[in-house]
Amino acid sequence: MEKKNTETRRILETVIPILLLVLIIGVGHTAFKLDENTRDIKFETEQNEKLIAENEAELNKQTEKRNELADQLEQIENYNETLAHYHDRFFELAGELENKILNDESELKIAYLTFDDGPYKMSNKFYDVLDEYDVQATFFCLKKCAEFGYDYDEIYDAAYRKILASGHTLGNHTASHKLGKNGIYSSVERFMDEIKENREFIEDRYGYTTEVMRFPGGTGTAGNKYYSIIEELRDIHYAWVDWNSATGDGGARILSAKEYRDNVLNNTNGKKLLVVLMHDYSDNTLIALPEIIEGLSDQGYVFLPLFYESQAVNR
Ligand SMILES: [Zn+2]
Repeated sequence: MEKKNTETRRILETVIPILLLVLIIGVGHTAFKLDENTRDIKFETEQNEKLIAENEAELNKQTEKRNELADQLEQIENYNETLAHYHDRFFELAGELENKILNDESELKIAYLTFDDGPYKMSNKFYDVLDEYDVQATFFCLKKCAEFGYDYDEIYDAAYRKILASGHTLGNHTASHKLGKNGIYSSVERFMDEIKENREFIEDRYGYTTEVMRFPGGTGTAGNKYYSIIEELRDIHYAWVDWNSATGDGGARILSAKEYRDNVLNNTNGKKLLVVLMHDYSDNTLIALPEIIEGLSDQGYVFLPLFYESQAVNR
């Protein structure tokens, strides 16, 4: 019994330290492993936090940029609205001024300067003179572009843009202006097709809808088709206008600048609403233009571009 106990103790004394050693190594290893995992997780967490912070910064930057763009867009939209507002307000006031003048409540008179058949290569010289005097006029234009058989598309394109940018009225004068056999007056349908073709051309290119037009050669040239045509013009919201004053530069004979000037200044006869017919292809009209503007101003005229509601036009 004594011997057995001794043996058991000896075995235990040998085994226990081994077991303890194994246990210690095991725990140590596990602890080391756990520590390693903790460090890994910590590292990953740090990395993720860094990424999140970076992404947040980027997101904030993008949000800021987006808000900035939204602000700018709103400003542009407001700007267009403001422009449209002032455009409407301008013609509202012009209408009020016309009423006052026609009711003898104002000493002023209005001159509507109109230029037909353009644009031309030299039209920019006319725009410059008008700019110099801060005068807005009306240009009854044709469909002039390379696609329609005209060269110098860039010059014409710039001209249409300049007319609109300067606050002049861009009017419709048919697409081709072709008179005679097979011309614009050969049928009501043909005439209206030309009006619509030119209107679409201007709308598509410049986003502007013309609403004042002039018959090539004047309303008299339309003959007995006049009444059918004006019915159709009314249907598509057009006002039309002839003239009660002219330089005479559209005639077969070229006159001097002095004669063009006198034709206008000596024949106003106190008309309260003067509609002056000119052409921006005429060198002598260009020379006469400053004196025409100054002379009409001296006679009490102010200058306005034509507009749909004006009493100088027919609707
Ligand atoms: Zn014409």
